[in-house]
Amino acid sequence: MPKHEADVVIVGYGGAGAAAAIAAADAGAKVIILEKHPEGGGNTKYSGGSIRTYLDQEKAADFFDAVCEGTTERDVIETFVKESARNPDWLAGLGAETSTRPALEDEGFPPRLPGAAFPHLPGSDAVGPRVRVKGEGKGGRNLWAVLSRGVEARRIPVLYSAPVTQVLFEKPSGVTGVIAAMGDKEVRVRARRGVVLSCGGYEYAPAMHLNYLGQNFFSLGHPGNTGDGVRLAAELGADLWHMNAVAATFGYKVPDFGFAIRHRMRHAGFLYVDQDGKRFMDETGVDGHAMWAPSSYIDMKTLRRPRIPSYVIFDENARGCGAVGRTDSGIVSDIYQWSSDNLVEIRKGWIKSAERLAELARQIDIPADTLQATMLQYQNACEQQNDAEFGRSPATLCPIATPPFYAIAIWPSIINTQGGPKRNARAQVLDVRGRPIKRLYSAGELGSLWNRNYPGGGNVSEALAFGRIAGRNAALEPPIA
Ligand SMILES: Cc1cc2nc3c(=O)[nH]c(=O)nc-3n(C[C@H](O)[C@H](O)[C@H](O)COP(=O)(O)OP(=O)(O)OC[C@H]3O[C@@H](n4cnc5c(N)ncnc54)[C@H](O)[C@@H]3O)c2cc1C
Repeated sequence: MPKHEADVVIVGYGGAGAAAAIAAADAGAKVIILEKHPEGGGNTKYSGGSIRTYLDQEKAADFFDAVCEGTTERDVIETFVKESARNPDWLAGLGAETSTRPALEDEGFPPRLPGAAFPHLPGSDAVGPRVRVKGEGKGGRNLWAVLSRGVEARRIPVLYSAPVTQVLFEKPSGVTGVIAAMGDKEVRVRARRGVVLSCGGYEYAPAMHLNYLGQNFFSLGHPGNTGDGVRLAAELGADLWHMNAVAATFGYKVPDFGFAIRHRMRHAGFLYVDQDGKRFMDETGVDGHAMWAPSSYIDMKTLRRPRIPSYVIFDENARGCGAVGRTDSGIVSDIYQWSSDNLVEIRKGWIKSAERLAELARQIDIPADTLQATMLQYQNACEQQNDAEFGRSPATLCPIATPPFYAIAIWPSIINTQGGPKRNARAQVLDVRGRPIKRLYSAGELGSLWNRNYPGGGNVSEALAFGRIAGRNAALEPPIA
């Protein structure tokens, strides 16, 4: 069996893995990275790349404490805020320039929640604007260009197409290395000081979706994330947390692709209806990372899920206002560009269109009379500027009355999962009794600090912050004799 050796072994080469590798190398350690895919980047490369800033760190910790509802220890949250506040400076040290992410409204989107998600929680006004790395590409790609350059500049070796299949543990030393599959060979990599698990979540593990999240999802991100880190850590007795937490929105399932394309409207004249033709939520009032939740309703008499899929209904005015599919991020950005007037997707049949609502209902197989009644009720809400049923903001109550009418099925689609091995503020993986598993660290969305109420912008921030903490602390472990 071919062998490699390093002080710190990093499993997974996305944002958390890159940050851990850079921090460990800067602390003087010899580092090696193993990546399952032929290239690095993971979800990080496909992300919007937005990272958090803070106006007041203590109050921001109060906010995240309230968001996490007691599922994450206060010291982990405080460490996150303190370390992630350094992200912009740390990135600047790697040669990056950052700029403030424009508000959605400034990018031409209809108004949503003001400021942060969950503005009613204490400390919500203490989080600052989100920032992104500037560059020629889009958010995550610019960030990844900076991180991968930082790894290359330190001459940190990366073994590609090398999925780690086992983390080795020996008493009394603790974790001593990993085994990876490379083609038909197994490779053993010895870790003199520590192993960092940064191999992402379980976005592409349908059985895990059903088991932990209770339903099926499509995914927008990186197909390498199949839950390997959960199994690797569980095999060593790791405690698991936040397994029921997911950041997920609505996406379109198109026949040509095995993943979803993110749904996003540029005009407020749209509705969501279920398979019975009825509305079920305030379409513009729920944060984009939680859109899936109102659609997860199950009729407990029949186990029917009438909102999977649901349908977005819009008219000619909204059609002309810009692309209703987002292809600037996600894996789709590698291969497809949604047309700015949606006409290509109408011609492809991805978007259904009809001059009359009854015909549209027939095309998507929902009851025409209920759809027409729903649309009438919505028109009344627009006229009265009062959505008595779902409390949608009057500013977004735009009529949907100009034919042709359009519909497209929307499916719950994962941005990223949060669950995995539980870690402490030093990024050590904890066992089921709350004790650190010796020399085992984790970072990133694998075992993230976020619970079900993820407020956005926190995963990349956490990947960088806990990546650095994990890399530094692993590098400081005494070497195995
Ligand atoms: C479309 C989209 C937009 C997003 N926008 C934002 C945003 O703007 N802000 C934000 O905070 N978050 C955003 N996110 C979420 C965020 O991108 C991720 O949560 C974060 O980047 C995860 O970083 P990571 O390093 O933990 O994992 P990843 O970057 O996913 O890296 C994990 C790597 O591990 C590899 N791997 C898996 N298994 C193994 C194995 N057995 N052995 C070796 N390697 C393995 C994978 O191939 C992958 O390369 C977005 C996600 C998506 C999909």
